[in-house]
Amino acid sequence: MPGECPFCKIVRGEEDSERVYESDDFLAILDINPSTPGHTLVIPKEHVATFPELSAETTGALFDAVQEVMKRLEGGLEPDGFNVGWNHGKAGGQAVPHLHLHVLPRFEGDKGGPVQAVVRNEPEEDISTVARRISGGGSPPKQGLEVSDPSAEVPSEEEECEEEEEDEEEDEEDQINKSAREKWKEMKKGRY
Ligand code: 5GP
Ligand code: ZN
Repeated sequence: MPGECPFCKIVRGEEDSERVYESDDFLAILDINPSTPGHTLVIPKEHVATFPELSAETTGALFDAVQEVMKRLEGGLEPDGFNVGWNHGKAGGQAVPHLHLHVLPRFEGDKGGPVQAVVRNEPEEDISTVARRISGGGSPPKQGLEVSDPSAEVPSEEEECEEEEEDEEEDEEDQINKSAREKWKEMKKGRY
């Protein structure tokens, strides 16, 4: 709720903060509990809890604000790199229910990891299957995939033939993805 929201209070100037950048639609402040020097929060002035709630115009402007903040951090602190991202929802680690992007300056030897390190929950399914679920466009997980429909018509010979061809194409795709994954694992061994 905007009235009680801690970030709305900061935006309205009712709570103190270290402001490092401000535009019509955004405010950037230093995190009160910094994970790294210059840890900055980029906050839309409008109260929205999560990223999909931002209007299309503001979404573009958000990245302008992030870019400006990064330039300022670069100028002021000369970091060696950055991690930029946000926590979405309780499962994603979001504590303050007002959208904010974390901009984390990184320094050689700071013992931090890459953004992928926030979770290691390897999928049980092959990534091609996962990709097919996603490209289904928001349908419930099992729909249109392995679930058999007892009312479905028996396919004609021609349809069966087409299905077999599609299966072969999918097997080929799985094979390509598998070798890409193997390659990536090899690369990773050398890098980390
Ligand atoms: P998240 O919701 O993404 O988990 O993180 C919220 C972040 O906001 C935390 O890193 C926390 O330290 C920071 N934070 C919470 N309350 C305040 C506040 O009142 N002022 C500032 N500057 N940072 C805050
Ligand atoms: Zn708010």
